[in-house]
Amino acid sequence: MPSAAPGAALIRFEAAAKTYADGTVAVGGLDLEVREHELLTLVGPSGSGKSTLLRMVNRLVEPTAGRVVLDGQDVMSQDPVLLRRGIGYVIQNVGLFPHRTVAQNIATVPGLLGWDRRRTQDRVRELLRLVGLDPAVHGPRYPHELSGGQRQRVGVARALAANPRVMLMDEPFGAVDPEGRRALQTEFRRIHDELGTTVLLVTHDIDEAVLLGDRVAVFSQGGRLEQVDTPVRVLTRPATAFVEQFIGGARAVRLLSLATLAPADLAPRPTASATPAPGGALRVGDTLERCFAALAASPDGVVPVESAAGEPLGTLTLAGLHAALRRSAQADAGDVATPRAG
Ligand code: ADP
Repeated sequence: MPSAAPGAALIRFEAAAKTYADGTVAVGGLDLEVREHELLTLVGPSGSGKSTLLRMVNRLVEPTAGRVVLDGQDVMSQDPVLLRRGIGYVIQNVGLFPHRTVAQNIATVPGLLGWDRRRTQDRVRELLRLVGLDPAVHGPRYPHELSGGQRQRVGVARALAANPRVMLMDEPFGAVDPEGRRALQTEFRRIHDELGTTVLLVTHDIDEAVLLGDRVAVFSQGGRLEQVDTPVRVLTRPATAFVEQFIGGARAVRLLSLATLAPADLAPRPTASATPAPGGALRVGDTLERCFAALAASPDGVVPVESAAGEPLGTLTLAGLHAALRRSAQADAGDVATPRAG
C-alpha cells in the first residue's frame, strides 16, 4: 500500500503544447493533473511526445502554448536552476559523473544546496541502503566499476538525494537487461511506496507502465492523451481503439501481475493433501501471476493456500484463478483510484 494516499494536484498541464522549430507537433495541447504522492506512468510509442511533456516540468523544454503549473506556480515564472534543484531527474543512461565516486555523485545536489559534510554523508549512506547498495563497498567506487543495474540504482539515489517533491524519470530502466529490470522495477515500486515522492515516469513498455503506475497515461502520435486511468482500468476498459491496440492481445496475462488472490477465490481444503507450490505455499494477497505459476507447476491443478500467519485457508484451482481474474476486472470498474496491493 502507498505510504500516503494520492492527494491534490501537484503538477497541472493546462492546454500544454510544444511545436518544435521544424514544425513537429510533439505535444498537442493537453490537460493532465499529477496528484501529490502518485506515481504516474506516461506510456506510448516512440515519438508520441512523452519525453517532451516530461521535460516541460523542469524547463528543459519550454511550452509553445499553454502552461505547466507546479505547486500552484507556472514553471516559466521560476528560475530554471532553482526549479531543477527541487526536481529529481533520472534518464536512461543515468549520466553519472565518470570521474566522481558513487558517494560524490549522490552528494551533488546536497553540495549545491550547501548541506554540511555530516548531513550529506548520512544522507548518502541512507540512500545507498535504500536502493540496495552497500555504502562501504559501493560508495567509494567509480561508475565504470558498477554493473548497468547498479549504475541505475545510483542514478535513482542521486535524484532522491535532496528529498525532491517531484521525480521525473525518462525510461529509467531501459538500458538494464530484462532480468535485472524486473527486479529494479519491483524495488523502485517499494521505494516509491516508502517515500511517497510524486513521480512522472516515461516508458514505451505497457507492462512497465501498468506494473509501476498508480495511474497510467497513454499517448499517441502528436502528443495526444488517449486515456489516463488506473492500470486495471486501462487493461480492462481501454478508452479508445488506439489504447486497445497498444495494449495488445495479452491483457489477461498483464492483469495477472496486478491482481491478487482473495479468500473468495478459494475452494474448501480437500481431505487429500494438495501439493504445496514451489517456493512456498500460496498466500492470500499473492499476485495472480504467482498463483498461475504455482498451478502450472502443480501435478493435480490444486494448490493449498495459507493465511499470512501460515494457517490453511483452502485450495486454489484453475476455476478459482479464473474467478479471481473476473473479480479483479469487475471490482475496479467503478472506482476512481484503487489502492494497489503492495
Ligand atoms: P517520445 O518521448 O514519446 O519518444 P519525444 O517527446 O522524444 O517522444 O518526441 C516527440 C516528437 O518530437 C518526435 O516526432 C520527435 O522526433 C520530435 N522531437 C523531439 N525533440 C525534438 C527537437 N529537439 N527538435 C525537433 N523535433 C523534436
